[in-house]
Formats: sequence, C-alpha cells, structure tokens
Amino acid sequence: MKNLFVLKMKQAGFVVLMGMSFISCEKNPITLVLHSPIYPSESQAVTYTAERVTDGSITTAKLYETVNTINSSNTITTAGTETLLQTWNNPSGDLSFTKSSGHGDNKLVTYRWVFTTPDQTKSFNVTYATNPYPVTNMPAPVYAQGDPDDVFDLVFIPDTDITNINTFYTHCSGVIRQSFFDESHTQFWRRQHNFYINAQTGHATDYDRRAIDGPHQLPSNNSFLSFAEGKALMHQNDLRDWASGGVFSTEMQNRGTVMHEAGHSLYGLKDEYGNGTHAQQAEFPNNWSTLAGAQAAASDYGSCKEASDAVEMGSSGWYHLCVSNC
Ligand SMILES: [Zn+2]
Repeated sequence: MKNLFVLKMKQAGFVVLMGMSFISCEKNPITLVLHSPIYPSESQAVTYTAERVTDGSITTAKLYETVNTINSSNTITTAGTETLLQTWNNPSGDLSFTKSSGHGDNKLVTYRWVFTTPDQTKSFNVTYATNPYPVTNMPAPVYAQGDPDDVFDLVFIPDTDITNINTFYTHCSGVIRQSFFDESHTQFWRRQHNFYINAQTGHATDYDRRAIDGPHQLPSNNSFLSFAEGKALMHQNDLRDWASGGVFSTEMQNRGTVMHEAGHSLYGLKDEYGNGTHAQQAEFPNNWSTLAGAQAAASDYGSCKEASDAVEMGSSGWYHLCVSNC
C-alpha cells in the first residue's frame, strides 16, 4: 500500500529528496545524525546532532531545515523553504545545533546534513513531525528517510501499561540509535529505515498466558498500518514477548528484543536457538531442514562460513550455519 505520507507530499509538490538518493549504504560511517526530542511538541526546542562514530576528516558540514505545515489529510497547506541553519568548517568532535524556538503546530520538518570530506560530498535527509500529528489514523513519522515503498517501515505503538509517555518517546529514540544504528548490519543499511510513532495504544499479552489473556490487543488504527513491515508494541512490564496479528511485543527498554523481533518481521529471519520457531525460507534461509542443506549453503557466504559450521539447533531437527562463538 502506498503510504499517504509520501503520496501527499508528492501531490503537494514537495520535493521528496528522500529515496532518490545516491549512496544508500555505508560502512564505518563518520557520523550518525539524529534529533532530540525525537517527537517534539510544537513549543519544544529541537537539537540536531551529528555524532562522530569513526575517525575521518570533514572539510565542511552544513545543516539545512525545511518546515512545512500539513493538515488532517496530510496536504501541505504551507510549504516552507529550505534554510541554512549553520555551517562548520573543518569541525572536530560531535556537531550540534539547537533550534530553541519550537516549530509550531501541524509541522512536518525536514533537515538535511551535507558533509564534504576529502573524498566526497554526502547528504542525509530526515523528516519528522511535531506532536501531536494531525493526520487522521496515521502514525507520525519521527525519523523518515525514504519512500515507504523502498525502505523498511517500523511503527512504535505505545502499550496501555506505559505510565509516562515521554519515557516511551525516549525509548523510541533509543531503539533507533542504540539498536538499529548500532548493530553493524542495520547501521550499514540505516538509510533504508523509516520510524514512526503511533498515537493509538495497544496492549501486549504474555506468550505463556495466551490461553488466558488472548492475543495482543491491537491499536484501533491497526488497519492503517499495513504499509509498515514492522509494528512494535512497546510495553513497560516484563513479559515473554511474541508476535501476533502482525504486531510484535517488546519491553520498550529492551534493545535486544526489538532487534530480535525485527529480525523476524523486517528481514524474514527465523530463530537460531533450539526451542525457537523454525522454517526454511525459499530465499536466503537462515534455517535449514537438513544438515546437508545447511552444509551446501555454506559456500554462499564466501570465506565467512564453512560446511563444518552447519550444526543442529538444540534437538530441534533444524540446522543453521554457525561459527563456534555464535
Ligand atoms: Zn524469535
């Protein structure tokens, strides 16, 4: 399904820089760009940061911002113009800029970092909404980088058990920075991910209490979330997490569970522990139904795997390709 968010931006003539770009993946990036708070109210100051994560010289950094006003049907009613916020020459360390006045109601803000290094110039575009998001039934983009048809979309859904919504927002930011932008593979592909926050709540049940408590209670706008490959029901209390109705549950503070469940929902990976859920995908499996199948697949991984890495997961009758420290 085509997401209304980008479709309407295109209809409104807004230049969607996102998704048209150039270099989509990057190993050992020099910087990671983020904004804080991740989902600011109309009056909150917003700090943009370019965090240095590896050595590498930056000749020039520029930060631009465009502020559009949108309505409940996601039409841009007032289109902003791109403004240069700051230029840095030969900067060292982390870069940051704070916009101390809030952006106002019903805003969709796009910021663009342009880094010139001795080798190349790279541009990073991020779009976020101010809180509350006016578009009926749709989750607010809080870190959007590409056309939803081209990238992975992950929606954070607050559980009714959350007592402080600001804590939830902080954990949403933590999932982006400390899970997706930290794990080496998803960091490499970080520009292939959009993140959203849902206003409507859901309620997670414990895997071991399914017979009593039933499946996860889905948010009332769940039918509008089908564009998203991942829907994370973020709760506060400790539960045994699972996926149900296209939604996976996770403790909001648990960065590992989010990555594990995203492995299933976004990337089609199956469990690699003995009593997990196993299946052999038609393409790019990470579980094999036979030892011989796993051994034969080892050569697909170049020098990374050998046939001797093929082992059974517990006593499940399923096999994976594993090095000794996995
Ligand atoms: Zn699993």
